[in-house]
Amino acid sequence: MSTFFIEQFGCRATQADGAAIERQLRERGLSLAGESAVADVVVLNTCTVTAAADTQARDAIRKIHAANPAARIIVTGCYAQRAPEELAALPGVCFVVGNSHKPQIPALLHSIASASPQFLRRAPFGGAEPPPPARSAQTAASVFPAPILTGDIFGVSDVLVAPVLGGEGNHTRPTLKIQDGCNSRCSFCVIPFVRGKSRSLPPLTVLSEIQRLADSGFREIVLSGINLGTYGRDLSPRVEFLELLRCILDETSVERLRISSIEPLDVTQDLIRLFAASDRIAPHFHVPLQSASDRILAAMHRWYRAEHYARRVELIQEHLPHAAIGADVIAGFPGETDADHAATLAFIESRPFTYLHVFSYSQRPGTRAAAMPDRLPGGVIKRRARELRALAARKSAEFRRSQIGRSLRVLTLRRDPAGDPSLTPALSGNYLTVCLPLALPPNQFFEAKVSHVEEQQLFAIPAEARTLLLSGVA
Ligand code: SF4
Repeated sequence: MSTFFIEQFGCRATQADGAAIERQLRERGLSLAGESAVADVVVLNTCTVTAAADTQARDAIRKIHAANPAARIIVTGCYAQRAPEELAALPGVCFVVGNSHKPQIPALLHSIASASPQFLRRAPFGGAEPPPPARSAQTAASVFPAPILTGDIFGVSDVLVAPVLGGEGNHTRPTLKIQDGCNSRCSFCVIPFVRGKSRSLPPLTVLSEIQRLADSGFREIVLSGINLGTYGRDLSPRVEFLELLRCILDETSVERLRISSIEPLDVTQDLIRLFAASDRIAPHFHVPLQSASDRILAAMHRWYRAEHYARRVELIQEHLPHAAIGADVIAGFPGETDADHAATLAFIESRPFTYLHVFSYSQRPGTRAAAMPDRLPGGVIKRRARELRALAARKSAEFRRSQIGRSLRVLTLRRDPAGDPSLTPALSGNYLTVCLPLALPPNQFFEAKVSHVEEQQLFAIPAEARTLLLSGVA
């Protein structure tokens, strides 16, 4: 039987797409190879959020082709949607399939894989012998979407929005993607061009998928989307995200639900109250900030100002003082002055952020920011990103220390096979990875008291530790 391997890049939503493709391929009887070097077909599921993500994907394609010249490489995901010709020109690539055509991959792959081995060996692209003929745009165009960087969001109805397992290479906590696409137009962001308009999974499907996952033994489920707060606005009748969360709590038995990311203005008082009122929703808010300079927020076409964001953080702190609060921040947006950067640092410094994802500004073709003047030198962008990361590290360390002596409900994760076998990592509701000094199975909840920090690692002792040791579970 022919084998496949999926190489993943990018955000949780992209990883969830990759997991959906994997599931569909297995259902069609294809088998998963242990690594790309031995697979007949390699699917690269790409990201294009930064230029660095593009480089990473191109490097991966070259490496896969060098290590396994007979592999037929299919490139999909956001980069494939944005710049198909660029990817089709790389060695070993036999198909480039945009996000809009992702649902066709299983059929495409099945037909490739079910062809005779001879056909595979003599395939026009990707084979070491005979030498590949010149790649024709016609061949690739059979799965390319129409050109999309025209300023308009393309309309597609067949883009993959599938309930899937996935995320973090650790299937203890499955990700369920319930929404795809975005109707906003932040000036730096290429995502609406490569993922289309906002589409939501119907609520009944969400509920049944969550219950299916809970029945399969999963105890924490992560809800993800590209712009999760807009969930349900495309449905008829319209459904509010808050309403969906209430239904999930009322009608499913999921033990812990986590929200992957939500835009500031969707963090309403009612949402925070719901989080605070339920011990089944992880007290974890990942709220993109991008900048705390109002001038830069306006240039980014973000629809809030620093004071609005600050109010959300205050509300979270008021209701959930130990919640995780994380943010995405962009360093070096065009025209960002030292004063703008200082305003962002000061804003973060004085608020209870527990972690940051810092991105160096990267020009994305077709976006409005790409045409803006006053681009900053690379050195300035790097320095600002470094300063933001240093601040983030300090805030994270402060938060970890503040948890010493507290009891956290933690979910055990898979142990690193190469790590210390007497230690088990576990994740708290407020998104802290703690180390439990016991060998424990994954996917178990424990109440654990945080004891100390050692080399930036938080340690915690499960209340049941003595019982577990005596009963021989550990
Ligand atoms: S909200 Fe803005 S940054 Fe987020 S996906 Fe939409 S356009 Fe991009």
